[in-house]
Amino acid sequence: MQQHSHSASLNAARRARDLAALREAAGRPGPAVDVLVIGGGVTGAGVALDAASRGLSVVLAEKHDLGFGTSRWSSKLVHGGLRYLASGAVGIAHESAVERGVLMERTAPHLVRALPQVVPLLPGTGASGAALVRTGFLAGDALRIAARTPSATLPRSRRLSRAEVLRYAPTVEAAGLRGGLVFWDGQLTDDARLVTALARTAAAHGAQVLTRCAVSDASGNGATLTDTLTGESIPVRAAMVVNAAGVWSGEVAPAITLRPSRGTHLVFRQESFGGLTAGLTIPIPGETNRFVFALPAPDDRVYVGLTDEEAPGPIPDVPEATDAEVDFLLRTLNTALRSPLSREDVIGTFAGLRPLLDTGSGRTADVSRKHAVLTTPDGLVTVVGGKLTTYRRMAEDALDAALAAHGRTAAPCRTRNLPLVGAADRATLSHVAAPLRLVQRYGTEAVDVLAEAAGDPKLLEPIAPGTRTTMAELLYAVRHEGALDTGDLLDRRTRIGLSPETRAAALAAAESALAG
Ligand SMILES: Cc1cc2nc3c(=O)[nH]c(=O)nc-3n(C[C@H](O)[C@H](O)[C@H](O)COP(=O)(O)OP(=O)(O)OC[C@H]3O[C@@H](n4cnc5c(N)ncnc54)[C@H](O)[C@@H]3O)c2cc1C
Repeated sequence: MQQHSHSASLNAARRARDLAALREAAGRPGPAVDVLVIGGGVTGAGVALDAASRGLSVVLAEKHDLGFGTSRWSSKLVHGGLRYLASGAVGIAHESAVERGVLMERTAPHLVRALPQVVPLLPGTGASGAALVRTGFLAGDALRIAARTPSATLPRSRRLSRAEVLRYAPTVEAAGLRGGLVFWDGQLTDDARLVTALARTAAAHGAQVLTRCAVSDASGNGATLTDTLTGESIPVRAAMVVNAAGVWSGEVAPAITLRPSRGTHLVFRQESFGGLTAGLTIPIPGETNRFVFALPAPDDRVYVGLTDEEAPGPIPDVPEATDAEVDFLLRTLNTALRSPLSREDVIGTFAGLRPLLDTGSGRTADVSRKHAVLTTPDGLVTVVGGKLTTYRRMAEDALDAALAAHGRTAAPCRTRNLPLVGAADRATLSHVAAPLRLVQRYGTEAVDVLAEAAGDPKLLEPIAPGTRTTMAELLYAVRHEGALDTGDLLDRRTRIGLSPETRAAALAAAESALAG
């Protein structure tokens, strides 16, 4: 592995130093940096890492915080692309399966685990429906094999007995249950943590990662950065500019037209599901090949999603679930449960906007999920669409396009074999001297998180009822993960905020972590 002298630590002091360097460079002639990346979601952080690891100097400018946008509102699955196969998009499906393998085996084994996904066979799913699901799962196995991901990483799909279904999902309707089908896919501990890990790995390769810096007046050769904490504007000249502002890309590059689609999830306590250990996959009545999922999540929660609703009009910073979506998810979920859940059981909701390119007609559910790289005549490259799972390919394609547009060269892309901070193979991870919960969030860095407690056991206790997060983690987030305020701590470095009640209980702890 390449030796690098930079640290992976992001914090207020490093941000101030990097901003000062940019201010100084603005007074000198010539580009301040090789690549300016706009947007600190999974795509932008991926582009920053791709470029920095190819030896280019990089500024990543994010208007709010790392993972502030769509990247933190996903289902947190690392998809093998099964859904794309069903619509005949074999190329995208294969690309997804390959990238899933890269994440699970090389770049982020600590952040992605194998998740069994169970379809219970209830009277609502007849023999032909079950056969269709079985065929789909076999195709998923073929995809995995074609992507060379071994069954030791993701087991084969198979039929489940009735008892096995109830072990995975204890609250499933038992009357008329004929057994089930199981398929294995990847699940992220948390999507926002993937973004932070990418940005910190880019920082370790020298990238300047600047949150709370909004970009305006972007062109192929630079843009204006405004520090939203002070209001100061700094012109940045760059040899190449990549717009990765997701659903906001059209605000940065007005030639881009998107057709956002909202996806909503509900948050429950694990108690409501009696200890769910698989993704419970429920066919949506009256639709083929569309499902509602209940997914086990950290902090003893379950996420239930998701919807696909056209979301025209101005793009909000934080999208919100509608009542109709909440009702739809509850109604579909309850078709598979012994005792129905209600609004009283919902402890939170979250919604995100898919940055889909406008391709004209059709439902947003049918609009292609393939990513696109678009270059304007002045050389501004926009990368949009795709999904979390394929961020690495998107980043590689975007940087290659920027290099081509500006007639430049760089070392070949290395990210396929470049572990993110904290990554190690599964054998090494199983020996890290820290609780499993921390290893699944920090990998080998879990020991550094424990060290933040400096021997004080109180700093390793949960900071509030409803979460397992400790003060040591909050301190680590402030000192090494670029958290600048309570929102960064509660809503992105941790996901405490997905339950407003728990968030309120944890606020004082977040304030004291920031006070040092
Ligand atoms: C509900 C839902 C569920 C999903 N589930 C999955 C899943 O399970 N698996 C999967 O692989 N994919 C999933 N996806 C897709 C995936 O989440 C997105 O494709 C991906 O997160 C998009 O990342 P991005 O970096 O392109 O955009 P974003 O994450 O939105 O990042 C863009 C960033 O740009 C910043 N920005 C905006 N304007 C400016 C500006 N002027 N200056 C500086 N910064 C700016 C924003 O603050 C934001 O942080 C899901 C999507 C949705 C909506």
